[in-house]
Amino acid sequence: IGIRELSTLGGAIGNHLTALLAISQNRKLIRMRILLDEAQLTEGVERLATEIDHHFGDRPLTVIAIMTGSLVLFADLIRRLSMPQRVGVVQASSYRGGLKSGDLTVDAKMLIDVAGRDVLLVDDIFDTGKTLDRLSGMMSEFGAASVKTAVLLHKRTDHIVELRPDFKAFEIPDEFVVGYGLDFMDMYRNLPYLAILEPHEIEQTAA
Ligand code: 5GP
Repeated sequence: IGIRELSTLGGAIGNHLTALLAISQNRKLIRMRILLDEAQLTEGVERLATEIDHHFGDRPLTVIAIMTGSLVLFADLIRRLSMPQRVGVVQASSYRGGLKSGDLTVDAKMLIDVAGRDVLLVDDIFDTGKTLDRLSGMMSEFGAASVKTAVLLHKRTDHIVELRPDFKAFEIPDEFVVGYGLDFMDMYRNLPYLAILEPHEIEQTAA
């Protein structure tokens, strides 16, 4: 069974469901628990957009996607925001294909000019907070007039930075999640729902 069939099934049946998904590299199946289904994600993004609209009104905004995890959220979010927008991307990665957060690397080669602009940084998830903390500082160094942050998911409470996201859609437990832009080794970003990937499932697949 292909990923598409299974993701459709998962979305149709709804929440707290065990779904089986194929890993394309070696064709083994691993189990995932759905945490947020498509309808819940849509509702969350709408809530996020309403809050951001409410805060900025019709002030022009420079909206920056932190790639690659925010790809899906970003496309859905910017189409729901009402103010005039300039849209750009910046690349940040800290996971390097594993489950644990590692050293953060940032590539701002594709970043548009943010000097004198009100900037909204959009990321998929706030975990340790290192990514948004570093990128907020970077936007200020590049001369942004103001910097706010928006995330779909807020994971844990023992953050190691002082910064907190200004806008967030969901609080989630401290589990490794994939789908709706979030990956494990660059896979599963295309899943239309958010699922928990259990470490023992990954180990079994690798064995
Ligand atoms: P932070 O810098 O806040 O620790 O981590 C943020 C980045 O780590 C996110 O942009 C995301 O790419 C990655 N990340 C954190 N938690 C998860 C998770 O549960 N699943 C996946 N796939 N990525 C995560």
